[in-house]
Order: sequence, then C-alpha cells, then structure tokens
Amino acid sequence: MDDELNFADETMDAEALASPSPWRVLVVDDDPDVFRVTQLNLKRLRFRGRTVELLVASSGKDARELLRNEHDIALALIDVVMENEVAGLDLVRSVRTDLGLRETRIILRTGQPGQAPEQDVIFDYEVDGYVAKAEMTAAKLTTAVVAALRAYETLCEFANLSRELEMRVAARTCELEKLSMIDPLTGVANRRHFEARADIEVAAARRDGLPLAIVVMDIDHFKRVNDDYGHAVGDAVLQRFARVVECHVRPSDLIARIGGEEFALLLPRSDHEASVAVAERVRTAVEQEPFDTVAASLRVTASFGAALLAPGDENITAPLARADAALYRAKAAGRNVVLS
Ligand code: GH3
Ligand code: MG
Ligand code: MG
Repeated sequence: MDDELNFADETMDAEALASPSPWRVLVVDDDPDVFRVTQLNLKRLRFRGRTVELLVASSGKDARELLRNEHDIALALIDVVMENEVAGLDLVRSVRTDLGLRETRIILRTGQPGQAPEQDVIFDYEVDGYVAKAEMTAAKLTTAVVAALRAYETLCEFANLSRELEMRVAARTCELEKLSMIDPLTGVANRRHFEARADIEVAAARRDGLPLAIVVMDIDHFKRVNDDYGHAVGDAVLQRFARVVECHVRPSDLIARIGGEEFALLLPRSDHEASVAVAERVRTAVEQEPFDTVAASLRVTASFGAALLAPGDENITAPLARADAALYRAKAAGRNVVLS
C-alpha cells in the first residue's frame, strides 16, 4: 500500500478553499491508522469540483450517533469487525432502517476477507462494495469513492425531483379539490358542495338536537337584465349578488349557487326566527344596494323561501323542497319578499 501513498500531497490547495462544499465521507473503523491512510489517499481527490471531507467514528455505536446528527453524508466506509464481530453489519442495517438514510452509499472494508458478510446484507441494505483492506490501494479506493459519489449525486437528484413532484401533485390535487367545490362565476360553493355540506350539517343537527335552516334565493326578473343589457352584465349582477349575500351572513353559514340565478344558504344552529331575520337582512341589502355594472347602475331585488329541518327529515331534500315552495309563493306574492 505504501507506494500508493505518494498520491497524497501536504500542500494546501488554494482551489480547494474556493470550491463548493465538499463531499462528506464517513470512515468508521476502530483502527486509527485506517482513517489516516484514507485521509492521505483522498486528500487530493476532486469530483465535480468538490473535494472530500472526512468524518470519523471508531465504533458502530459512535457512527450511529454521528449519522443521527450529521446530514448529507455521501458515503460511509465501514469496517466489519469493531466493538463486536458484526458491528459493521449492524451499522449498515441501521443506516437504512432506523436512520432511514437511503441515499448515503456504503462500502464495507474488512480486515478478515475470508468472512464475507451474509449476502442478504449486501442485497437488502444496498451495500455498494465489500473489499479487503489489504487490497484497497489508493487507486482502488479513489475509484470506489468516485463511483459511490456519482451514485449518491444521482440518488439525491432523483430524491429532490420526487419530492418536488410530490409537492406539485399535492398542490394541484388541493387546487382541483377546491375548484370542484366552487362555482367559477361567483366564487361561492357550487351545488355539489352544497349537497355534501348539507349532508354533514343535517347529520350534526340531528345528532346534537340543534336547528338547521335553509333559505333559497332567486333574483327577480333576472331574465330582463340579460335581455336589456346582455349576458355579461347578467353575469356581473350574479357576482355582485353573491358578494352582497356574503356580507350579511356568518362565516359558518354556507352560500351556494344552486342554479342559474338561484342561490341557497345553509344556516347551522338557526331556528325559524333567525333564518327569516337573515333572509330579511339580505333581501333589504340587495334592494338597497346599487348594482353598478359597465352598462348601468341597476336596481335588483330577490325573493326568498325559508324552511327548517323537521324531526322526520333524514336529509336536505324535504327542507329544500319546502324552501322552494315558499320561494314559489314569494314570487307569486309579488316578489322581493321572504316567505317560509
Ligand atoms: P323570476 O323573477 O320569476 O325569477 O324571473 P327570472 O327572469 O329571474 O327567472 P327565469 O327563470 O325566467 O330566468 C332566469 C334567467 O337566468 C334565464 C337564464 O338565461 C338566466 N341565467 C341562468 N344562468 C345564467 C348565467 O350564468 N349568467 C347569466 N347572465 N344568466 C343566466
Ligand atoms: Mg329569477
Ligand atoms: Mg330561476
């Protein structure tokens, strides 16, 4: 091995000081000479413009402790026999399992090459090399280390890509989930979301013995807005209507657009009196608020039908039908009114 040691050079390399963070390689060996020789052999190595920084541990136990606290260890050069016959193999197992280090490369170096480790360890825990210390010349060590660093680099890139991809998929899924619940024109809940939330609120109201109210709202003579000013102005009125309603209900109430110019309010913990009061508040606000559009400042009114979840109701269907019937009567009674 001696003739290979001329690989080493004591002079401090100026380039090394300026270069990016070094590759971190851990030497685990109970023989301090092994660390010194390894250090000498790898001193001048540079891969992808980065030098190698050696860390040292003299037992499997110390190495485990070090690996728990240190990050970005590209390679561990591990002795097989240390505090006991299988200290190195135990360390390999914990690197992959307890410590969960998947990218860190592992090369086992043994003083007793006759006793090869169980093949299982090599296969199951992704060991990159198993070599006899006596045969580990500087050139062989350098080659093995460079191969391991290259593999580590690729695995890290892959892990980063996977993480990024996972995050993007999660963000997109979340976005799609939200979109599937929202009416794109007005930004309030769509009918699907209204029905899903209604199921939850009906179950909660029945379980806790609390009231649940529903109010349906329909803009009066909305067809005329479209006919007189065009569909785009009609759309703007729908958007404005949604904003006015939003301003007059509690955050725990759900506003949904359940049809063309028909909206619904789901009012948890609201009795008859409270729901009619909310509807009346919204009705007044809509009536008083000028609906400023590109074409004109419009006066808009809406009709309201309110209903409560009754003791026999297992879902929102019956209360929704009663609210619709009340709305129908409100239209028949001349519009711009709340009926229940
Ligand atoms: P009423 O007072 O009886 O409710 O009369 P109305 O004109 O409001 O009701 P009608 O059901 O006759 O007409 C509703 C109109 O709403 C017809 C339809 O073209 C329009 N509409 C439905 N969805 C949209 C939409 O997304 N944008 C626009 N601009 N108009 C819509
Ligand atoms: Mg209408
Ligand atoms: Mg309608």
